[in-house]
Amino acid sequence: MKYAVLGNPIQHSLSPQIHQLFAQQQGNTLIYEKILVEGDLPSALQEFVQQGGVGANITVPFKIEAYHLMSDLTPRAIEAQSVNTVCWLPEQKWLGDNTDGFGLVWAIEQEQSVSLLGKRVLLLGAGGAARGVIGALLARQPASVVVVNRTVDKAKQLAEQFDIGWCGYESLSNQSFDIVINATSGSLQGSLPDVPSAILARASLVYDMVYGAHSTEFLTHAQHCGCGMIADGLGMLVAQAAAAYELWHGYLPSITDTLAKMRQFIASSDGS
Ligand code: NDP
Repeated sequence: MKYAVLGNPIQHSLSPQIHQLFAQQQGNTLIYEKILVEGDLPSALQEFVQQGGVGANITVPFKIEAYHLMSDLTPRAIEAQSVNTVCWLPEQKWLGDNTDGFGLVWAIEQEQSVSLLGKRVLLLGAGGAARGVIGALLARQPASVVVVNRTVDKAKQLAEQFDIGWCGYESLSNQSFDIVINATSGSLQGSLPDVPSAILARASLVYDMVYGAHSTEFLTHAQHCGCGMIADGLGMLVAQAAAAYELWHGYLPSITDTLAKMRQFIASSDGS
């Protein structure tokens, strides 16, 4: 039985290390690979199953496409219309889940100890990751969630689906938010979403879903703007992976222990 993460790009993914740490905790052994999807996702998933694949994480840019390929879906995947975890069922069909929202809320509330209750939340991006987290954010009863996206129509669609606020980057300047969440893939391409400095300065937490050995460009920028608290996406990554691991193996590993080990791993493998 094999597990994998499928995406493009995929080289940066830490999911294999995280799932190996979970398996060690459970006293299990695991084959978990990175699969670069250069062709189409259905063919990649079919090939994966033929090679013994039974569970996979789906990452950028395939989460919305994956949603449309599933035979069965969990309620949170249906709500998100986006899938980050797939499970090949004994009935020879795919079940799709979305654990990103669980991961983000765990990271903000448990890792960063910041309550979402009553907060004004700004979500940057309207892709698969943004879709995956809105339901879980709303369940924590923030005062408001506003989504902003480069392609404004996508923000509008998402806002209509979840009954939240939306706007384009150019309309942000007179607004204030407590928590700013970067769910764009800009950091992967070395470009920043166009958020006014004052928004970042006034936020009590700026969270970037991207992670690495060093602060992301977006978080460094937020700090320069005066934001007091920044956090990268590693906590979310480990927490969403733990929920995926539980779906596949029926065992919820310790997120906190694994996160500490992953921070050490990243620091030691960076070499600088
Ligand atoms: P998608 O490709 O589905 O969406 C990308 C989003 O980023 C779109 O809204 C796009 O806007 C926006 N975007 C890209 N470049 C820029 C830019 N330069 N300026 C402004 N907006 C930009 O990707 P995902 O939603 O799946 O993933 C988004 C990011 O979140 C990735 O970096 C991914 O690695 C990270 N992620 C991290 C997780 C974690 O556990 N830490 C979990 C999930 C995702 P437009 O619509 O205009 O193209």
